[in-house]
Amino acid sequence: MIWGHKLNKLTPAEIVLMKKAGQITRDALKFIETLIKPGISTLELDKFAKKFIIDSGAMPSFLGYEGFPGSICASPNEMVVHGIPSENIILKEGDIISIDLGVIYKGYNGDAARTFPVGKISDENSRLIEVTKNSFFEGIKHLKVGHRLGEMSHAIQEYVEKNGYSVVRELVGHGIGKKMHEPPNVPNYGKVTDGPLVTENACIAIEPMVNMGKRNVWLLEDGWGVVTQDGKPSAHYENTVLITKDGIEILTL
Ligand code: MG
Repeated sequence: MIWGHKLNKLTPAEIVLMKKAGQITRDALKFIETLIKPGISTLELDKFAKKFIIDSGAMPSFLGYEGFPGSICASPNEMVVHGIPSENIILKEGDIISIDLGVIYKGYNGDAARTFPVGKISDENSRLIEVTKNSFFEGIKHLKVGHRLGEMSHAIQEYVEKNGYSVVRELVGHGIGKKMHEPPNVPNYGKVTDGPLVTENACIAIEPMVNMGKRNVWLLEDGWGVVTQDGKPSAHYENTVLITKDGIEILTL
């Protein structure tokens, strides 16, 4: 893993815009959550998200990104990330659906993801969603100015594996600011001595992707969708985070 040598450094004025981008991202995800029920297609979710983001004065950053056709990534069940919204993917009772959503507001980016239940889901799937979310919060306990970024990455991996799940390695979090993806890479695994030093007034997107079974993934033929090789479910939890000398601020919660 090439981490990138340092985090970005944002001015106070830029941080104000990052916070606004984060709020819109959060609100859009909360809105999408209210629409998730059996019978809705992921393309319908995509259309609602696009309208919500534009009505909020921002733009969906995923749309057209390296040719991506949607405003959200919608990844059901064994799909890890980057699912292309489709009228043919209709949510059904018992599914889990990962929604990843990014906005750009006055030139600054917000990025967040959640895995939602569709109707009533199995205990196994709800535990997967919980552990994935908790791994983020375990990780940020170790995100401190002057420490190695790897301390956080290691904590996420340790928590996930202790709970009997695995961490995806092919995809990682990232710096975020004027661009959605900036250095450094922010893996969800590694050693405490890995990675750049954490510095203040930096923003990163931390996004554990957790598989119920083995960590290995395939890329689908559409060039986007990533699925587990063993066909078992996967969950995703992401927030854009601001690091200050006083601690961590989660901009998309
Ligand atoms: Mg991201």
